[in-house]
Amino acid sequence: MRKNNADLLVVGGGPAGMMAAIAAAEAGKSVLLVEQNDRLGKKLRITGKGRCNITNDCDRDTFFENIPTNPKFLYAAYAALSPQDTMAFFEGLGLELKTERGRRVFPASDKAIDVEKALESRLRELRVEILPAKAKQLILEDGRAVGLSTNRGDLLAFAVILATGGKSYPLTGSDGSGYALAEAAGHAIKAPLPSLVPLTSSARTCAEMQGLSLRNVSLRLVDNESGKTVFTDFGEMLFTHFGISGPLVLSASAHLTKREKNAYTVFIDLKPALDEATLDNRILSDFSKYQNKDFCNALSDLLPEKMILPFVKEVGIDGRKKVHSITKEERARMVRLLKNFAIPVTGTRPIDEAIITRGGISVGEINPKTMESKLVPGLYFAGEIIDVDAYTGGFNLQIAFSTGRLAGLHAAESVLNQTEGN
Ligand SMILES: Cc1cc2nc3c(=O)[nH]c(=O)nc-3n(C[C@H](O)[C@H](O)[C@H](O)COP(=O)(O)OP(=O)(O)OC[C@H]3O[C@@H](n4cnc5c(N)ncnc54)[C@H](O)[C@@H]3O)c2cc1C
Repeated sequence: MRKNNADLLVVGGGPAGMMAAIAAAEAGKSVLLVEQNDRLGKKLRITGKGRCNITNDCDRDTFFENIPTNPKFLYAAYAALSPQDTMAFFEGLGLELKTERGRRVFPASDKAIDVEKALESRLRELRVEILPAKAKQLILEDGRAVGLSTNRGDLLAFAVILATGGKSYPLTGSDGSGYALAEAAGHAIKAPLPSLVPLTSSARTCAEMQGLSLRNVSLRLVDNESGKTVFTDFGEMLFTHFGISGPLVLSASAHLTKREKNAYTVFIDLKPALDEATLDNRILSDFSKYQNKDFCNALSDLLPEKMILPFVKEVGIDGRKKVHSITKEERARMVRLLKNFAIPVTGTRPIDEAIITRGGISVGEINPKTMESKLVPGLYFAGEIIDVDAYTGGFNLQIAFSTGRLAGLHAAESVLNQTEGN
């Protein structure tokens, strides 16, 4: 009979793999966690700018509204571990938490490393064995996943959980090698693309305004071909030397399905609280205050300093024109531009700079109730390797934890069935 190294093998010591290993070990199974880095949770340690936005303390509807890709696939994973369960889990490990704006949950210490340490100490408590090795291939027996070939030799078990993450920030270890393992076993991979990533633009106005951050603006992402708005939201954004960034822009990037160079335009409403008529009145009142000034010197109440010259150029009114001689039609142009400041989008920054990867193992080939492959029995998936992704706010880590727990529990159950069958 085959001699197993453990009941279960987990590939990837990120949040999904660690949670899967914990769930399986809590269910009484022996677990071997294979991680190619010399330490666990390398990406986890840099999340939330080093503070780790663990989850979002929101209700169920809000959770799924924040998942633009394949939300329904996650219903069972959510039931296995909700954001509130995640909070209780970490608090149970002695990690104090705090909730900030937008219901974002962080460790009270503001240190991502404390989250990683909490998971690691639970792994040790449960005697999960950690092997620093790179998984190269799945070992299949009669079509069933029974092990791994690694750079440190072959490993055998009753089941294998792949939690190797996506392709973004590859220096953290998420180098996409897990896709190749799954592909070699027959799985289809939806092309990995950058998401939650800054957008590039050819507009020189972006470079001119670099460093300028806008708060309380609304942003619309429009598909140039269909003219349809594919994303709209309100919040904060930033101009950079290459284009635009900031929370609103990162969320918008999750909706870029076309990869052609000039497929989208971003429109910024600089005054979302004012309708056109109210905005025109506001301009009139500024103009009466500055009536003898040049146009370019009369905009400081309306716009941030860095935006005045680019705005004057865009609106096509001579900056030296006296305010009292600005026509009604020119004011209408100003209103239109304030409500629709256009940034042509040429694409995104590369996947290396993306917070997450969109795409991955096709969800149609995974049983959503168990995270087991529909093609290869004994093979389970968890975390960002799966074709699911969410906005910023703690939702992506919650997906990793929820799918990790579900995969761990069911992989453990499958071990039980096999040992009973023996
Ligand atoms: C800068 C940044 C900030 C972020 N901040 C947040 C945040 O605050 N909140 C939030 O919700 N999300 C955040 N995210 C997203 C979040 O980090 C990921 O969604 C999450 O880490 C995915 O977890 P995972 O376990 O699936 O994959 P990863 O965390 O990518 O872990 C995968 C692990 O598998 C290992 N591995 C890969 N291939 C192999 C192999 N062949 N053999 C052995 N080991 C292998 C890797 O070394 C890695 O350790 C952030 C991401 C980035 C890049």
